[in-house]
Amino acid sequence: MKDMEYDVVVVGAGPGGSSAARFLSEKGVKVLVLEKRQEIGAPKRCAEGLNRSALEDLGVPISEKFTTSNINGAVLYSPKGKKVVMDKVGDGFVLERKVFEKHLAALAIRKGAKYMVKTTVTDVIKDGGRVVGVKANFMDEEFMVKAKIVIAADGVDSMTAKRAGINTVNRLSDYHSGFQYEMAGITNMDAHKLHIFFGNDVAPKGYVWIFPKGDDVANVGIGIVGIASEDGKRARDYLDKFIANNPEFFAKASPIEVNSGGIPVSASAKSFVSDGFMVVGDAAQQVNPIHGGGIAIAMYAGKIAGEVAAKALKEGDVSAKRLSEYEKIWRDDEGKRLETLLKLRTFLERLEDEDFERLAEVISGDDIMKLTVGDYGGLPKLLAKMPKLLPLAKKLF
Ligand SMILES: Cc1cc2nc3c(=O)[nH]c(=O)nc-3n(C[C@H](O)[C@H](O)[C@H](O)COP(=O)(O)OP(=O)(O)OC[C@H]3O[C@@H](n4cnc5c(N)ncnc54)[C@H](O)[C@@H]3O)c2cc1C
Repeated sequence: MKDMEYDVVVVGAGPGGSSAARFLSEKGVKVLVLEKRQEIGAPKRCAEGLNRSALEDLGVPISEKFTTSNINGAVLYSPKGKKVVMDKVGDGFVLERKVFEKHLAALAIRKGAKYMVKTTVTDVIKDGGRVVGVKANFMDEEFMVKAKIVIAADGVDSMTAKRAGINTVNRLSDYHSGFQYEMAGITNMDAHKLHIFFGNDVAPKGYVWIFPKGDDVANVGIGIVGIASEDGKRARDYLDKFIANNPEFFAKASPIEVNSGGIPVSASAKSFVSDGFMVVGDAAQQVNPIHGGGIAIAMYAGKIAGEVAAKALKEGDVSAKRLSEYEKIWRDDEGKRLETLLKLRTFLERLEDEDFERLAEVISGDDIMKLTVGDYGGLPKLLAKMPKLLPLAKKLF
C-alpha cells in the first residue's frame, strides 16, 4: 500500500466522521475517511433513537430505508410500575443504523470524500509536536497518510486523541456501560413510544429502555454508571433480570442481536483541538448526559469542525488557535446546553426509588420535556411537591 497525502484525514466513519467529511467535501477539501470496521455501521452500538429535526437541521435526506418505527412520545415507568405517558410530544424514529451510517458515508462520497474500510489507524504522525498525519493498516499492509488536519471521530474508545496528546480519558463516574439485545416476539408494546424504566433494582443510576423497531421488534437495553454496580453486578445481569421479570413483554421474545458499548456522559472533554488536530463526537465526549444520545450531537460537531477546518485550510493556518473556533462555537451553544443537562443527570442519580415514585405522581409529560432540554423554569413548582429534594436541588441548580 502506497503512502498518501490529503488535506484532511478523518479517523472513523460513524455519524461524527461522515458528517465532518461531508461538510469538508462540500467546500472542495480533499478528504480521506479511514474506518476500521469491514462494514460501516455494523455491528451497531446503539439503541438507534433519533429526532427527525436532527437530520432536517443538518440537511440529511430522510429515507424509509433507514427508519423503522415512527416515535411520537415516551412512557416512563416508576420502580413500582406507575406510568407517566408523554403522548404526541416528539417526532422521531428508531433507525436501522447499519443502513443509516452507510447512507451518511454515501452522502460524503457523493460530495467527493474518499473512504477506506477495514483500515485501522494505529498512530498519529507528529512533526515537532504538530500532528501531520496518521499511520494506518489495511488488511496487514501498513501505510501513512499525510494530512494538514487530522480529525479524530473514532468514538468512545478513541485512541487517536490520546496519541495526539489530548486527554479524553473518562472518569468512571462519567461513563455508562450499555448492554442491549435487539429482540423479536415482544408483546404488549406501544410501538410508537420509547419505553423507559427506572429503579435501583432495575438499573442503578441509569435506566432500561425498549426502543421499538416494529410491532414486535425492539432494542431492549440498559445503561448503568461505571462498569458494574456497587454489588458487582454488570449491566447485562440487570438486563437479563429485567427481561425475566417482565413476561408481559418478553414471554415470547428472543434476541436476534447483542450489542454493548460505553457511553461518555460528562458533557464533553476539556479540549477538542491541538495544532493540525480536532476531535469530534463520542471521542470528545459530546453526548447528552441525560439519555446518552450522541448521534445528532456527533453529526453537529462534525459539521462545525468541518466548516472551521475548511476555512482554516483556505487561510493556510491550521494552528490550534485557528482551529479553536470550532471549540468556541461548540461551547457557546451545544456545549452550554450539555453542561446544563449534566446538573440534571447528577440530580437524577441521587434519587432513591421512593423519590421516583413520588415524581411519577406529580410530574407531567410536559414537565419532563422541558427538563430534558435544560429548561428548569418549572422546577420550583415541582419541588414544592417534593420538599425532601429541595436541599439537593439548591446545591445543583
Ligand atoms: C448501548 C448504546 C445505546 C445508544 N443509544 C443511542 C440512541 O438511541 N440514540 C443516540 O443518539 N445515541 C445513542 N448512543 C450513542 C451513539 O451511539 C454515539 O453517541 C454515536 O455513535 C457517536 O458517533 P461518533 O461518530 O462520535 O462515534 P461512533 O459512532 O462510535 O463511530 C466511531 C467510528 O470510529 C471507528 N474507529 C474507532 N477506532 C478506529 C481506528 N483506530 N481506526 C479507524 N476507525 C476507527 C469505529 O469503528 C466507528 O465506526 C448509544 C450508545 C450505546 C453504547
